[in-house]
Amino acid sequence: MPTVAFLGLGAIGAPMARHLAAHDLGLRVWNRTATRAAAFAASHGAIRAATPADAARGADIVLTCLPVSADVESLLDGPDGLLAGLASGSVLVDCTSGDPATSRRIAARLAAQGIAFLDAPVSGGVVGAENAALTVMVGGEAAVLERVRPVLAVFGKSIVHCGAIGAGDAVKAVNNALLALHIWSAAEGLATLKRAGVDPAVALEVINTSSGRSNSSMNLFPERVLTRAFPRTFRLALLDKDVGIAAEVARAHKLPTPMLQMTAELYRAAHLAMGEEVDHVEVVKWVEQLTGTVIQ
Ligand code: NDP
Repeated sequence: MPTVAFLGLGAIGAPMARHLAAHDLGLRVWNRTATRAAAFAASHGAIRAATPADAARGADIVLTCLPVSADVESLLDGPDGLLAGLASGSVLVDCTSGDPATSRRIAARLAAQGIAFLDAPVSGGVVGAENAALTVMVGGEAAVLERVRPVLAVFGKSIVHCGAIGAGDAVKAVNNALLALHIWSAAEGLATLKRAGVDPAVALEVINTSSGRSNSSMNLFPERVLTRAFPRTFRLALLDKDVGIAAEVARAHKLPTPMLQMTAELYRAAHLAMGEEVDHVEVVKWVEQLTGTVIQ
């Protein structure tokens, strides 16, 4: 089996890395806040690396999972950076929900040193990561994907080659733009129905066996909104970032995409108003404020 390193033990990175630690991969972990990496290493039998370079040194495959592509790019340089540790012939697999332009730039820099790159964002949320049931959408060379597929299969159930470098990022961004749109539109619809005298639970019972249903109406609203539980699993700030990437990709291709652009604007406004730490589903609270109606 190859030797693997994992950088970025956040909400989704940590459960992904936990599965890797359970296999014979000599897993080395690095995290910006070192105490998190130390706690992870102690609990899961991984080796804590002091720097990104130390994590990458001797690894055949290095995985990263950070908030944005620029964070990954910022880890490349300097004596402690990834490029100081990555060997020619190794592969950097970036599981960040990144942006295609930065991924292409990172890939070009690595290629100059004989290092392969894949953008490989994941979908399925923290629960999907805990159950090793993530969808992994991959951009880059198909042959490189085949080399790393057994490692991705440790936490991924469906691993799909989407196209050239940046294609995985683009698919992820559009998927999450749809998620954002579904949450917002379901919130507006349910607030409207509540004002019209319909219990939101009854409305969802109908919608979820009818053509307007979505993952948001079937899972997020019953489990998180009606219950007022709003668990923190995926930050609104990150969803704002994803919708912004989708809108930017559309603009780069000069496509008229009013719905996508408006969704990006709405989520930017909500993110600014609600801050860095709220969960993405808490955007519903903002729609509730706008409509003066609690969906319960
Ligand atoms: P979190 O905010 O929970 O964790 C972010 C991780 O990145 C932490 O380990 C943090 O370190 C580290 N980090 C942040 N900034 C930097 C930096 N500048 N340099 C180095 N390390 C940094 O994010 P998630 O785990 O939720 O998300 C990670 C990626 O996965 C994002 O792109 C997100 O969009 C995507 N994603 C998340 C899902 C989810 O359900 N949470 C689902 C699918 C995709 P520290 O501990 O020091 O803060």
